[in-house]
Amino acid sequence: MPTFVYMTRCDGCGYCVDICPSDIMHIDETYRRAFNIEPNMCWECYSCVKACPQNAIDVRGYADFAPLGHSVRTLREEEKGTISWKLKFRDGREKSFVSPIRTTPWGSIRPPGDYESPSPDGLRTQELAHEPEALHVDRLPTLTKDKLKRGVL
Ligand code: SF4
Ligand code: SF4
Repeated sequence: MPTFVYMTRCDGCGYCVDICPSDIMHIDETYRRAFNIEPNMCWECYSCVKACPQNAIDVRGYADFAPLGHSVRTLREEEKGTISWKLKFRDGREKSFVSPIRTTPWGSIRPPGDYESPSPDGLRTQELAHEPEALHVDRLPTLTKDKLKRGVL
């Protein structure tokens, strides 16, 4: 289920248009308000919801994520560096979460072009390019035999 826009809140700033990875948030040329041009292609990634400064976008969530009758609202507070989630279930229960917008300092992620080109030998490892260095760890955690349990617990 896709996003929809509360027309009375939208001011046509276009942030949702810029951020949508599916390129389906557009500005209506007549009304100067955003709308989802292709609801079938919406991933429900919530990027536009979080980016909207007017809190004008909502999502009709899939049942596995939010059962019928629910509501899910997010609030992005740039100055605090947080995203707040508020879920209201149809039986009246509410759950609230606050998470950081990101857990790494701004500007600390090096672009791929700053790393050396991967060597062909990299194809024989299970690591992705520039791991583990790009993850700022000495080595990736691996599952060892002594950590495996057989059978149903
Ligand atoms: Fe685009 Fe994601 Fe918003 Fe859907 S939820 S319209 S895919 S940004
Ligand atoms: Fe409208 Fe929000 Fe999109 Fe801006 S980000 S165009 S206010 S829906």
